[in-house]
Amino acid sequence: MDSLTDICRVISQCRNCDLHFSRKRAVCGIGPGNARLMIVGEAPGSSEDEKGLPFVGRSGKLLDQVLSNLNLRREEIYITNSVRCRPMLGKPPKLSEIRTCSGYLRREIELVKPSLVIPMGNSALGSLGFVINRKFDRVTEIVGKVIDHGEFFICPQFHPAAILRNPKRREYFEEYFRKASALLEDLGRMPREEIVRKYNSSRF
Ligand code: SF4
Repeated sequence: MDSLTDICRVISQCRNCDLHFSRKRAVCGIGPGNARLMIVGEAPGSSEDEKGLPFVGRSGKLLDQVLSNLNLRREEIYITNSVRCRPMLGKPPKLSEIRTCSGYLRREIELVKPSLVIPMGNSALGSLGFVINRKFDRVTEIVGKVIDHGEFFICPQFHPAAILRNPKRREYFEEYFRKASALLEDLGRMPREEIVRKYNSSRF
């Protein structure tokens, strides 16, 4: 898989896990091949499954609202998922399915080379963990933290579906994206260890 188009072609025909039984359309990642920011979600929902595009349902609308409030342009962000086929009845994907599908995320990261990856929710953290061979705590333990992986920073975030279920968390959701946006501005003009210190301090 030498290009994002190649990855998408392979995903569209993939039958490597049982999730291909429940999909109408596999959903590829979308966005520029040189995006500085990559967002990883969980799995396609019913709207995504119908349209074959990521984050076009209610979660996507919430994400769009928050991004546009912060002047983060969706067209400049690469958006993908931990699994590319909709699980039956909208259940969360199994760890084995996330592991099987994580090869696509690995290749997307290798090709896009983002500066910052935002995994939204536990499935996305699990998938990123398979890619970089690291075990993450649950999202509620590390949400909003800035982790330097060396090749890119990681800033775990709630999944927008969790915000729809619990709107009290919305201000945190916005705050963590605000932090991510500011971090992108600081990249290249501040040493990495200073970035980690600044964005993990309670003053931010
Ligand atoms: S979820 Fe991923 S690994 Fe499973 S069938 Fe779909 S594309 Fe293949």
